Amino acid sequence: EALNKILDIKGSIRVFCRVRPFLITDKRRNQEPICVRSEKLAVSFGGSKKEFGFDKVFPQNASQEDVFMEVEPILRSALDGHNVCIMAYGQTGTGKTFTMEGTNNLPGIVPRTLKELFDQASMDSSNEFTFSLSMLEVYMGSVRDLLAPKPSNRIHHGSSKCNLNIQTDPNGCVEIEGLTNVSVSDFTQASRWYNKGKRARSTSWTNVNESSSRSHCLTRITVGRSGGTEEAMEEFSKLWLVDLGGSERLLKTGATGQTLDEGKAINLSLSALGDVIAALKRKRGHIPYRNSKLTQILRDSLGDDSKALMLVHVSPSEEDSGETTCSLNFAKRVR
Ligand code: ADP
Ligand code: MG
Repeated sequence: EALNKILDIKGSIRVFCRVRPFLITDKRRNQEPICVRSEKLAVSFGGSKKEFGFDKVFPQNASQEDVFMEVEPILRSALDGHNVCIMAYGQTGTGKTFTMEGTNNLPGIVPRTLKELFDQASMDSSNEFTFSLSMLEVYMGSVRDLLAPKPSNRIHHGSSKCNLNIQTDPNGCVEIEGLTNVSVSDFTQASRWYNKGKRARSTSWTNVNESSSRSHCLTRITVGRSGGTEEAMEEFSKLWLVDLGGSERLLKTGATGQTLDEGKAINLSLSALGDVIAALKRKRGHIPYRNSKLTQILRDSLGDDSKALMLVHVSPSEEDSGETTCSLNFAKRVR
């Protein structure tokens, strides 16, 4: 049993890597500085060659199904009462949103997860499940409710109305005050709310193309489980699906003003996330959750009794070698 426990802890964070295929907009598409060999990623930039190990690597031609197949087992943990956190990390344009949301024809992890949860719940004859959905955006250190009923609750950034408070109760459970949490009884209903949240996210930005890179988008599915009998207590677990803000170092790209501030905020919260995971892995007594809103929100879903999966996204292009190296170093630190 002790050994099981060790294996379990060791396995509580997994780090996967997904390499984006070349797009028509990529320059010099014939160069292949990135090479996948089983679960290792070999990168050769400017004459130097390095190898990075992962729990799983998805090469350029991996499909959405291939990715979901490896994610699916972790969903079972959420139904079994564990908190789960699945995060997409990487430079803007490397496919985080493609992996998490996907497109109409190529749905990503979130829609597939919603479908899978309802399917699995209906097949389980010994438990009763309930599901509810929340969506929020963390932008420049403020927390916005993407499913708020009144549009006034999600007008411009920086308004105090759209900055929700995060509380932690004595048991360590995180509560986001006033966050809309809608109960959903089937996949169609859940998808409708999810699409509403996605729209709320993009309409708050003046430039749609910039919408996702400067903020973190978090979808939370709360799973309620009771043993079927009337007296059984309902137990809850949280499943977080996180499309993180772009990891690129804006400080070095000559960004100024608002863009620079946004970049700094994202960089700070991503490094806070890296610090928390690194501290958890080293079993340090102090875990620095308080350093960012992101880690405060995910506090009870990153740690001992929960399961986390980090999907690190990289570009296949030589042009992006600097950012790719940074992302791979981040992955190395958290794995
Ligand atoms: P990010 O969210 O990291 O900024 P996106 O998900 O928006 O990146 O991806 C950038 C572009 O690349 C989009 O047009 C997306 O459809 C495309 N793309 C990303 N990953 C893949 C993939 N694995 N297969 C096909 N197209 C992809
Ligand atoms: Mg995106």
